Amino acid sequence: MTIVTRFAPSPTGRLHVGNIRTALHNWMLAKQAGGRFLLRIDDTDADRSREEFVDAIRSDLGWLGLASDGEERQSDRLAGYQAAFDTLREAGRVYPCYETQQELELKRKIRLGRGLPPIYDRGALELGDAERAAKEAEGITPHWRFKLDHGEAISWHDGIRGPQKFDPAQLSDPVIRRADGSWLYMLPSAVDDLAMGVTNVLRGEDHVSNTAVQIQMFGALIAAGDGAAQMPRFAHEALLVGKEGKLSKRLGSLGCDAFRERGFEPQAIVALLARLGTSLPVEPIADRGALLETFDLATFGRAPAKFDEAELERINAALVHQMDHAAVADRLPAGMDAAGWHAIRPNLALVGEAAEWWRLVTGPIERREFADEDRAYLAEAVRAFGQLEWRHDDIRAELWKTFTQVLKRETGRKGKQLFLPLRQALTGMDHGPDMGELLPLIGETRARERLEQAAQG
Ligand code: GLU
Repeated sequence: MTIVTRFAPSPTGRLHVGNIRTALHNWMLAKQAGGRFLLRIDDTDADRSREEFVDAIRSDLGWLGLASDGEERQSDRLAGYQAAFDTLREAGRVYPCYETQQELELKRKIRLGRGLPPIYDRGALELGDAERAAKEAEGITPHWRFKLDHGEAISWHDGIRGPQKFDPAQLSDPVIRRADGSWLYMLPSAVDDLAMGVTNVLRGEDHVSNTAVQIQMFGALIAAGDGAAQMPRFAHEALLVGKEGKLSKRLGSLGCDAFRERGFEPQAIVALLARLGTSLPVEPIADRGALLETFDLATFGRAPAKFDEAELERINAALVHQMDHAAVADRLPAGMDAAGWHAIRPNLALVGEAAEWWRLVTGPIERREFADEDRAYLAEAVRAFGQLEWRHDDIRAELWKTFTQVLKRETGRKGKQLFLPLRQALTGMDHGPDMGELLPLIGETRARERLEQAAQG
């Protein structure tokens, strides 16, 4: 059986870290098994759905390397929902309701006051034909509910949570269609999962009770169908929270667009989210194949997964330190070749910082003030520098070593006293890339000028 998963965002905003995680895990679940990962745009809410967000979702998934193997959108599938609705209605599984929002709210309060669960009391099922006709004559158009079968417990084996059991009598018959004919989430999603041949539904645990309801919808639709459709398997992952608790408050900074703008590597996001909340260690893994090999729902924990930006920064830096020049060349400042990248790379948290460090090579650098003693030392350095052999590449690698050894011998300086004034004179900074790698990149002329300038003060 080919595994088919789907990611089903509503295009009402940009993807954020929680959505990305769901998309990634669905992608992994499919790819690990050589299956298909589908994108479904859940745009039945016409007021809130926007085309720009559909485009952004596609582009964000592409950037993350999670391009889909197929795409559907719910606004194109309305005929299928109508057909399913008709089927369910014929089977006695949907019924019209006439309560207003205020009436429902009042009923809820009364039930809560009596210590009962605030579920729908099925009042509309008690109406006779004449009463329904009277409501409609008054101009009240019904909304529609799916009638749960109270016969047996709803149970499934959840891929993450294990055995699950719900008493349908403790659940509200869900509203599936509004009075204006528009659809709520519940039925279209089940209809599409069947039509798209989705074998595994993996989503957040906020959907667990929806699954209970949808299992009955799947059952009713499958029973009425031609026998080809199959009930998917379900898994619900623990929610993602921020360091201080719920994510939602700060979602702006945790949007895919913000991650992109801040210059994070998509692979850092993938490596982190692939394992966050699992029993596997979060590691800077650049190779997706390696992540896929260890991906296993059985490693997913039940406790909320904690997203910490500092962890993303750490993974990002570690990945950048592994990246080849070829992988980043088009994002580097002009002239920064493989040797340049190699020298600068260990200092970067983000690839985008390369330009800042590259300025230490190309200049201008910050001019430092030196004490008299250090100026004298730097004058000595100018002399020693003049004796360095710059011609051959194999010797260039040794330049810094030779240079500092000569100075050590001639001045008696060592450690920080020996190195720091040179670094400050040559780069304008107290710390930075390895000087052995940097000096040949700065080059003879520039390096001499910088030393002379520093010695003159
Ligand atoms: N559009 C739904 C959501 O965003 C999809 C849920 C599902 O995966 O079924 O929550």
